[in-house]
Amino acid sequence: MSSLLSTSEEIRRKVEHRERISSQDALWLWQNASDAELRDLAQQVRARFHAPSACTYMVMRIINYTNVCVAQCDYCAFYRLPGQEGGYVMSEDQVFAKLDELLTLGGDLAAFNGGFNPYLPLSYYCDLFAAIRNRYGDRLEFYALTIAEFMYLADHANLDYATTAERFKQAGVRWITGGGSEILTEDFRKRHSKFKYTVAQYFEAQAAIVAAGLNTTATMVIGFDETIAERIEHLERTRHFQDQTNGLASFLCWTYKPYFTQIGGIEISTGEYLRHLALSRIYLDNVQRIRTSVLTQNERALEGLLYGADDFDLPIEDEVTQKAGATISLHFDRILEVARDLGFNPTYRHVPQAQLVP
Ligand code: SF4
Repeated sequence: MSSLLSTSEEIRRKVEHRERISSQDALWLWQNASDAELRDLAQQVRARFHAPSACTYMVMRIINYTNVCVAQCDYCAFYRLPGQEGGYVMSEDQVFAKLDELLTLGGDLAAFNGGFNPYLPLSYYCDLFAAIRNRYGDRLEFYALTIAEFMYLADHANLDYATTAERFKQAGVRWITGGGSEILTEDFRKRHSKFKYTVAQYFEAQAAIVAAGLNTTATMVIGFDETIAERIEHLERTRHFQDQTNGLASFLCWTYKPYFTQIGGIEISTGEYLRHLALSRIYLDNVQRIRTSVLTQNERALEGLLYGADDFDLPIEDEVTQKAGATISLHFDRILEVARDLGFNPTYRHVPQAQLVP
């Protein structure tokens, strides 16, 4: 009977019956579905994992421990080349001061994100992470690097990914997140970040991270010059990786900030971001936690909860996006009030102990 259904009805039937939508379906939805239709389908998939009014959040900070980088991504306003004025590396004490402040502000998650710094040996990272675990124990959790940095460190130390993951694990690391993915198509990377590894290498490294027993996440950034087909290819690769590993704790998409970058550009609208969030929720039927980006969309990110998201960060700092135009508000109560006004009941999410690798 399904051949008698319109494409719209057929996709709706698939979602209602918990069948997976195809990449062709995703393209059709993007091109033809109204905001209300996308929202409705996304809410149906969200309801498989979360109560309608439930959502969670964390207070966190991104610690940009060094801005020295050789990758030269043309969308980045953060980095300094080796030897260039303004380059820095944080000391252990500077990192501790940031973590202490995070705890004071009620947060308990830090994410380390810096550049591909050729001056820093693997021991800088292992010593730093071991010192953090030793000083703070389980009072806070930290995302120790993005996959892109992890790959650079492994190469720089002349180690394979499995050995590098093991070294980090021994240093007390539990998480290496999926940052540095932006758009996971080979062509996008050739256009914008040719020194930042191929898509195949990215997933090879992430598979090694999962195999080592470390936790990881999926990320995505939209709003460069990527095509809709490229966005869907990114989702397709993410869904495939999750099918193979079940290692992705969440999916977070944020938007490119074009200010002071080499390629510049214009920010995409919040409406486009929300449609993409909905499409991601519908397509990524094997990822439980879909996160909306307060960092790049501010209070309007909370509307993402209506478009399939169930979780968000309240960041207190991220130099990378702030350098490219992101603005951060510490008025957490007001942001949470927006979620409540939309009908949600935000509760604080500590990194669950069950996800921590002993
Ligand atoms: S985005 Fe990251 S890897 Fe690329 S230039 Fe900036 S700091 Fe380096």
